[in-house]
Amino acid sequence: DMTPKELQSQLQQGNRRALAKAITLIESTAQADAAAAEALLTGLMPQTGKALRIGVSGIPGVGKSTFIEAFGSYLIEQGHKLAVLAVDPSSPVSGGSIMGDRTRMEKLSSHPQAFIRPSPTSGSIGGVARKTRESILACEAAGFDIVMVETVGVGQSEVLVSSMVDTFLILQMPHTGDELQGIKKGIIELADIVAVTKADGSTATGAKRMQKSLEQALHLVRGKEDWLPPVLLCSAVEQKGLSEIWNQIQKFTAQQKKSGAYQDRRQRQTDQWFEDELSDQLKRYISGQDLRQIRQQVQAGKLPPAKAARDVIQSIVR
Ligand code: GDP
Repeated sequence: DMTPKELQSQLQQGNRRALAKAITLIESTAQADAAAAEALLTGLMPQTGKALRIGVSGIPGVGKSTFIEAFGSYLIEQGHKLAVLAVDPSSPVSGGSIMGDRTRMEKLSSHPQAFIRPSPTSGSIGGVARKTRESILACEAAGFDIVMVETVGVGQSEVLVSSMVDTFLILQMPHTGDELQGIKKGIIELADIVAVTKADGSTATGAKRMQKSLEQALHLVRGKEDWLPPVLLCSAVEQKGLSEIWNQIQKFTAQQKKSGAYQDRRQRQTDQWFEDELSDQLKRYISGQDLRQIRQQVQAGKLPPAKAARDVIQSIVR
């Protein structure tokens, strides 16, 4: 077994097994692992921050894993090292995963320049997001220059992922039949780039129609911004539109870096992350306290809740 020092140095040499181990440590809920994970991440910090972080989102069935397999292979051909992480808000109905297991992306996962990791399975969506942020840093320290974070266009997960990446790419399905497909608010608000999938064969016409609808909606809502999110067509099956998506990601990144928006966005994200940690850890600390006595006094109507809360906090900070 690797010592913490060995784990860190092997990870920094780009060893994928060491990276996988590090992420397992980061995701562990065991008390004993928390300190080790923190020490490891602290040691890795100087090597972090250099990757381009790309979020990829879309509803189940839109073609995410097929797209990531094709686009990821394209990026590797261009000489990049790609890590793919996932944020899966496990279904509240079935309790199971929405994104399915990762027997997907078979070609990519066996490639030496790629690292694929499924979503952490335990905890709230907020907890999963926290682990994923740390895993991004570990991937960067291991020398991956592109880190993709995949999620589904469901609930909070989309917002959370957009808060940890530099570019947010949203995948959208072609219009099907005559039914009026509502364009989700999240797409319009969060996207930096939109790609309509399955622009091939019998779905090619529907893809073009969806492209037009999205362009109109984006123009209406975001036409005055510095960057109007482009709507591109792609086919993972026919390997079409991949280089155009990469061009637009690079164009967006270059513009953001030039204007300073790139650094601003990262700084805001890091700040927010710190704030979240602060209140989470404070809450956890407080919930570990024995508050029976003061709770009784509140229950009995002897203390106003606000005064009781302040007393508890003052007893901690003293
Ligand atoms: P995910 O649930 O978003 O990960 O979607 P998948 O990647 O599993 O794809 C869902 C379905 O769409 C599968 O049946 C794929 O074969 C199909 N699909 C994915 N990409 C394309 C594409 O570029 N063209 C066509 N025609 N079908 C696609």
